[in-house]
Amino acid sequence: MIGTSDLDPSQAEQNPFNSIHIGEILCVGTELLLGQIINTNAAWLARQLTLLGVSSYCQTVVGDNPDRVRLAMETAASRSDLIVVTGGLGPTADDLTMAIAAQVAGQKLVEHPDSRAAIADFFHRLGRLSITENNWKQAQMPEKARVMPNHNGTAPGAILEFFYEDKPKVMILLPGPPSEMTLMFQESAAPYLEMRTATRFRHHFVRLIGIGESAAETLLKDLIDGQHNPTLAPYASEGEVMFRVTQLVHDEREPDNTAGLLAEIQKRVGEYIYEIGPRSMPAVVKDLLSEQQKTISFAESCTAGLVVATFGEIPGVSSVFKGSVVAYANDVKVNQLGVPADILAMYGAVSEETAIAMARGCRDVMKTDLAVSVTGIAGPDGGTDEKPVGLVYLAVASERGVEVRRMQIPGNRARVRKVSALNAFDLARRDLLR
Ligand code: ATP
Ligand code: MG
Repeated sequence: MIGTSDLDPSQAEQNPFNSIHIGEILCVGTELLLGQIINTNAAWLARQLTLLGVSSYCQTVVGDNPDRVRLAMETAASRSDLIVVTGGLGPTADDLTMAIAAQVAGQKLVEHPDSRAAIADFFHRLGRLSITENNWKQAQMPEKARVMPNHNGTAPGAILEFFYEDKPKVMILLPGPPSEMTLMFQESAAPYLEMRTATRFRHHFVRLIGIGESAAETLLKDLIDGQHNPTLAPYASEGEVMFRVTQLVHDEREPDNTAGLLAEIQKRVGEYIYEIGPRSMPAVVKDLLSEQQKTISFAESCTAGLVVATFGEIPGVSSVFKGSVVAYANDVKVNQLGVPADILAMYGAVSEETAIAMARGCRDVMKTDLAVSVTGIAGPDGGTDEKPVGLVYLAVASERGVEVRRMQIPGNRARVRKVSALNAFDLARRDLLR
């Protein structure tokens, strides 16, 4: 474990490493530059740094090249208090991050016995008897490193404290694989950083549906412009509108002062708010169903399974979700959902009447309390003057009857499908709140 004995808060004044304000993220990996993998590490870490109250002005991606990694580390050290590095800690020849970090920090590499033992243990548990020589390289650590154990892999991480151009710097080195990186950050790096940062942000997310971004912003404009602590800021998201209320605190014991601002937001746009908190729309629906001990099923045409794929991501959904029918072709709508053929013939697959018949049929077939249907034209082809691309009908059937929603969703195919799915959940939510 990392040594925390010298993180005594009473010594905060004397320790030069105790005032981390500005941090940056450096991701090492040629595959990132080539676009072969998406830099999810940077996005995840950026959110963690924000929560810890560390401001970030820069992110860098650099390939597995010693000179360029060194230059990127030195550049980062010249302008930030904290550098969080991911990637290149593994056993192979292109994994050179730790050795270069040691040089930048002015420290020698030495063997770390605990890490050597941990590597042996990891291979033992995998049932591998022979360990190739290059694996021991991962036990080579800068001499003054705080070593962070890797509980999902072999390469340990390190926290380096050093002076660069006479200023105190902290470099945190994490492995590239996200499962190893996130666990190590949470177990070892975050507790360290909590001791080293003076401020923290407290966030509340306000999520709205049924109102456009610019309309919502207009209603809240004076609050967005005029607030200092807490602040109110729009937050990017698709098909819904999100705002972030952020309070800057210097001590965890400071009371939450966001209630007044949240109440004012509620007063102005309350009818559109579906959540103040961390839950997504599908999670809100899942919780409502659980509370009311009801079940749900879906009949999807243009979303082709996207609704249930999203729903399946919510833990515990099995107690409320029974199944779905992906009814793309008309004969599937007829044969599996019992949509009358003459309704399809008279009104077409994308119509209020078909959406209603799909929802009713799905509720019967699946024997659920609620059933939600989606049918629309996702594009880019298939639109007409009468029924343009982006036209979507959704319906919910329950013991309370049937509700239909007609939408004209702007954007490309992916957006039309995503916004349709979001609204399928919203229809269910409104039915459950009725
Ligand atoms: P390993 O021991 O697996 O070699 P490592 O610490 O050396 O780990 P890399 O070799 O740089 O890390 O990357 C290993 C894998 O981790 C990559 O192939 C990729 O799948 C994933 N990975 C690396 N960096 C990132 C990143 N920034 N975002 C998301 N995934 C990443
Ligand atoms: Mg590697």
